[in-house]
Amino acid sequence: MDVRLTRTGNRVIGLGMMMLASALIGTVVVASAKSPAKPAMPPPAAAASVTPTTTPLPTKYVVLTFDDGPDAEYTPKVLDILAQYGAKATFFEVGQNVRKHPELTKRIHESGHSVQNHTWTHADLRTLSAAAFRQQVTSTDTAIRAQIGSTPACLRPPYGGVNATVRQRAKALGKDLVVWTVDSRDWTKPGTTAIVQRVLKNVHSGSVILMHDGGGNRAQTVAALPTILKSLKAQGYGFRTLTC
Ligand SMILES: [Zn+2]
Repeated sequence: MDVRLTRTGNRVIGLGMMMLASALIGTVVVASAKSPAKPAMPPPAAAASVTPTTTPLPTKYVVLTFDDGPDAEYTPKVLDILAQYGAKATFFEVGQNVRKHPELTKRIHESGHSVQNHTWTHADLRTLSAAAFRQQVTSTDTAIRAQIGSTPACLRPPYGGVNATVRQRAKALGKDLVVWTVDSRDWTKPGTTAIVQRVLKNVHSGSVILMHDGGGNRAQTVAALPTILKSLKAQGYGFRTLTC
């Protein structure tokens, strides 16, 4: 499915251009196979003359993703910067962190960003029993749903760890696996300049950019973000979010 209506009526487009690309070289791994993105279709005719006005989705765009939060120190900073630049992002959250900071998950959602599933403990899904896999995913669903009122349909496997079993189990739980196409490698703390350059050098329309708002010291990510957003906007990029 390419286009979904969220419960709040927002239209969101799935990852277009992200064909099965797990064989791509380097850190580029995209496990989600989807048909090309389409522009949002008008709502069904049922609404007669009055249809809600929606901002058209940008045709030149990136998908910003932040993993491993929410985090009490860095998530609010990331949210403030995103708001400053009018950018929306997708947050792949770790369930046990949602339990610690449910108010942040709620704030992310209420700020218009997408909240999605990144397992309960940041587990490598390739190593789990079927029961443990299910537990990691569904407990995180429950924690997120309690804050945002809907269930994540995107699952980002920690470490990008995907194999046939992970694909099959994710599908059985109704999840689309989503990895990334541009890895900022911010978690290696390479310096703010390196993070900025790595993103800007590799970005193109449709890129799914991996950054982190939790899981460690993300000061460099926070410092890099304004420059990244300013530059992307100057290059004409808009921002899309994922709901799968
Ligand atoms: Zn992660």
